[in-house]
Amino acid sequence: MRVGIGFDAHRLVEGRRFVLGGVEIPSDVGPMGHSDADVLAHALMDAILSAMRAGDIGRHFPDSDAAYEGASSIELLERVAQMMREADLCLVDADCVVVLESPKVSPFREAMRGELARALGVTPECVGVKATTTEGMGFTGTGEGVAAYAVVLLDGGA
Ligand code: MG
Repeated sequence: MRVGIGFDAHRLVEGRRFVLGGVEIPSDVGPMGHSDADVLAHALMDAILSAMRAGDIGRHFPDSDAAYEGASSIELLERVAQMMREADLCLVDADCVVVLESPKVSPFREAMRGELARALGVTPECVGVKATTTEGMGFTGTGEGVAAYAVVLLDGGA
């Protein structure tokens, strides 16, 4: 068994789509980034790569590479899941926390779980997603940015 933890944060700016866990959320602002800046997918990818002891997303999908400009992070997550399977590891469970003040993401929680599970090749029961605010404190509290944490448990089999 292997565990991995991932964290990501992006600045929120006007005029960007807000893609979270592969789901587009109606919002006046969205996370700035080279790709679609999906913090939830990024934290999850980093958690898996960490559990694989295979570095991080910056190493596998560098933002200096034009190939990843505007990239769909959920597609990159699919590629990480494929790498995981090729390393003879499978995802037992994943849990994630999104930290932001607004918009409210709870109405999209089941859609995000479904989309992340599909990308990972597991059932939605294996993927937890919840959200919290920081009660106005810090960069997430002021709305300057959005952050996400993810933990995963991988199994290498017998
Ligand atoms: Mg990121």
